[in-house]
Amino acid sequence: MSSLSELCQQIAQCRQCEIAKFRTKVVPGEGAEDADIMFIGEAPGYHEDQLGRPFVGQAGQFLDKLLESIDLKREQVYIANVIKCRPQSNRDPLPTEISNCRHWLDKQIEIIVPRIIVTLGRYSMGRYFPGKTISKIHGIAQKKDGIVYFPMYHPAAALHQQSLRQTIEADMKKIPGLLGEAAKVEEVEPQPQQLNMFEV
Ligand code: URA
Repeated sequence: MSSLSELCQQIAQCRQCEIAKFRTKVVPGEGAEDADIMFIGEAPGYHEDQLGRPFVGQAGQFLDKLLESIDLKREQVYIANVIKCRPQSNRDPLPTEISNCRHWLDKQIEIIVPRIIVTLGRYSMGRYFPGKTISKIHGIAQKKDGIVYFPMYHPAAALHQQSLRQTIEADMKKIPGLLGEAAKVEEVEPQPQQLNMFEV
């Protein structure tokens, strides 16, 4: 068994938060263990909780279309969430839930070693860009310690606010260009702790 599937099995045993009592299934994440691009959403919703798979509801269908628009299938990337259990009634994740779950996501990233981390929505963005506002930084890549971080609006935002759809679609189209940037990062390692912002 691969180290990522072993990790997912460990995640499935986790009962650290109260919400574990209410879950149908844990949603650790899915995709390629050697993915170059990792997408990080917020938390499982109803459909994800039922199936134990990330982004399988309406927002997930839009994410699939966005991936298709840059010739990618979900099997070629890795899709995970900041928290792995569904908060009851789809409420926002609590700070304690985010911090309890943090080490699982860190381990996933350690194993996958993605070149690009795409954050989907505010909660995922908040992990890497604390204090920032999504309307200001979406679509602007930043690199740190060899990984390119790329904040995007959550696909569900386009379902609630039609005007965001084009913004999300345009941001997604920047991702293939970022792969080239990520390769450059590997060739010429930036100074540690340096966070460079760039646009493609
Ligand atoms: N929204 C998320 O943030 N994650 C999912 O898995 C589904 C919807």
